[in-house]
Amino acid sequence: MTQLDYKTLQKLDAEYHLHPFNDNAALAKKGTRILTRGEGCYVWDAEGNQLLDAFAGLWCVNIGYGRKELGEAASKQMTQLAYYNSFFQCTTEPTIELAAKLAELAPADINHSFFVNSGSEANDTILRMVRHFWAVQDQPQKNIFIGRHDGYHGTTMAGASLGGMKGMHKQGGLPIPDIHHIDPPFWFADGGDLSEDEYGLLAARRLEAKILELGPERVAAFIGEPIMGAIGVYIPPRSYWPEIERICRQYDVLLVADEVICGFGRTGQWFGSQYFGFTPDIMTVAKGITSGYIPLGAAMFNDRVATVLKEQGGELAHGATYSGHPVCAAVALENIRILQEEKIVERANSEVAPYLAQRWAELGEHRLVGQARIAGMVGALELVPDKRKRAFFPERGTVGPVCRDFALKHGLILRATWDAMLLSPPLIISKAQVDELFDKTWKALEETA
Ligand code: PLP
Repeated sequence: MTQLDYKTLQKLDAEYHLHPFNDNAALAKKGTRILTRGEGCYVWDAEGNQLLDAFAGLWCVNIGYGRKELGEAASKQMTQLAYYNSFFQCTTEPTIELAAKLAELAPADINHSFFVNSGSEANDTILRMVRHFWAVQDQPQKNIFIGRHDGYHGTTMAGASLGGMKGMHKQGGLPIPDIHHIDPPFWFADGGDLSEDEYGLLAARRLEAKILELGPERVAAFIGEPIMGAIGVYIPPRSYWPEIERICRQYDVLLVADEVICGFGRTGQWFGSQYFGFTPDIMTVAKGITSGYIPLGAAMFNDRVATVLKEQGGELAHGATYSGHPVCAAVALENIRILQEEKIVERANSEVAPYLAQRWAELGEHRLVGQARIAGMVGALELVPDKRKRAFFPERGTVGPVCRDFALKHGLILRATWDAMLLSPPLIISKAQVDELFDKTWKALEETA
């Protein structure tokens, strides 16, 4: 433990640490918040303030903070065999066990895992593997990926290109070639007079139009988050994903579900595709696979894709030193054991989730809230100037951060994207904590209004 006081730490941070997704000059002036401890759904900062973390770190601490078993699993594996790679025709025990466990959990015949360190790398991996998949079947021209404007698939060159965040594309010469985007399914802003289900079909058929415009023989895959998280928890209408699946099947376009947020219980199902009733060919996972206790990601392929990669793909010219790291795999296995044995995913579906949904809908009654959306344990409150209209504030992104800061003052962590307050608590949140969440959010809304 450090002996340095808060002010000294902030000074060192301002001087030596570049923060991701921050205006570092502004942060240096303001001073960063330093977290020191976590237990269950709470974290404590270095000044001793207790905060209810309604964002599970960054959508990831699904089993909650402070589970000693995960530390013990890491320690045991580190002591026994801290590292070995999966390159030299070998691998380690936990790596194999984790691959088999993921095959058991994943939907349909998504049975094959390629391990990486993060969600971004998982998405990089699928870009290369999918293009390789088509190339070795004599279709090298079938190399285009279609994603969505405002989608988020990570921060590497491929991840940020597959994503459709304009702010990210402005930095560093993105997107890379042969990646296209369609508009996201966001009924609140885009649905006009259509019912949600009518709109879902319309939004999905933008994919069909794009495939036909580019030529199906050139389109390799479509990638989407089952629920678009980072942009503001856009929960698509029920009609959306089955129609996307139909279109992908019709034009032989591989369907990739980016399950980095939705995977491992966030929606009350193990994977977001199960929540929406569609079957992807490929999934990318990270975050909840270890509940954020240690970095790990995976690109997961169904039998069709994996068989081609294995039998026709030759040597895969792809991989990282830490692909299948035994310590990360051991922690993931322990995390999954806890999720299963304590029925945490089921709980996020049947026990506390309906109560959370009810209280979230009550927050939707507030005069500042235009829409309260929620699916299992992920949701958003869309703050608006006029509750009767589905329209944003004229200067978008000025009100959300104010509300977020009021919430923080009351000891509650919510994230603000533009003017949406985002919710993604540890899946173990109790009813009493849901009430605390409600009271603190309501107070913050009152102070913001
Ligand atoms: N995909 C989605 C849907 C995400 O939300 C994220 C991160 O938030 C990523 C990919 C990137 O994952 P990572 O930050 O682990 O690289």
